[in-house]
Amino acid sequence: MRKQIVAANWKMNGSSELVHQLVPAVKESVASLDNAVEVVIMPPSLFVSGVKAELAGSPVAFGVQNVGRWKSGAYTGELSAGMAADVGCHYALVGHSERRQLFGETDEIVAEKVARVLESGLTVMLCVGEALEEREAGNAEAVVCRQVESALVGLDAAKAQYVVVAYEPVWAIGTGKTATADDAQTMHKALRARLSDMGLPANEMSLLYGGSVKPDNAGALFAQPDIDGGLIGGASLKADDFIEICRAAV
Ligand code: 13P
Repeated sequence: MRKQIVAANWKMNGSSELVHQLVPAVKESVASLDNAVEVVIMPPSLFVSGVKAELAGSPVAFGVQNVGRWKSGAYTGELSAGMAADVGCHYALVGHSERRQLFGETDEIVAEKVARVLESGLTVMLCVGEALEEREAGNAEAVVCRQVESALVGLDAAKAQYVVVAYEPVWAIGTGKTATADDAQTMHKALRARLSDMGLPANEMSLLYGGSVKPDNAGALFAQPDIDGGLIGGASLKADDFIEICRAAV
């Protein structure tokens, strides 16, 4: 049985107040899910300590949305994967399309960040996804498989347990346009086949879908055989919606 995961990516949203309101509510509801789904909260890094304090004694995991590509040094404003591990994070998101598009993260930079995260002992949540033009040109699968291959090339199969892949079509992020459950399943199946071709234990790896996941579409997406949960943006900022999405993954 693969691990079902529902992860919250708050992006550059939230406040201390949201941490104190939302996190205890998630902690309480997740307690009744009997560990059937791994729930992860990734707030802006400044709020990680507050999230950690609210989660004390809970199986809910937490992480950061980005790490630097270097281990340490004169990189003003950057945070390292080692620091995230030091404060108790479990996960680090790498390669989100917003990082690729707005901050110039290339496949090479993403691969360096994946390496830093794995060296630090955290689990990497690697985001991949095609833009609308790439889908319309019939290149979606090629783009997504290239992103996965370049980020994970040379990965030791034993390290695959520390890798989660999130397929987030760029055109579905924050737009309200979710991929259909069938289209998402088709991509997840192709991704799993590619991971297997790379010599990785693909059947044991969790593949998440992200992009306008809401309480009313989560059930259909998570019911697909190759979709093992979701990476949630906007709906993760509302406790009731996020909790309902977590329940849909059980
Ligand atoms: P939305 O759920 O807001 O579409 O964002 C998805 C996402 O980018 C999560 O990483």
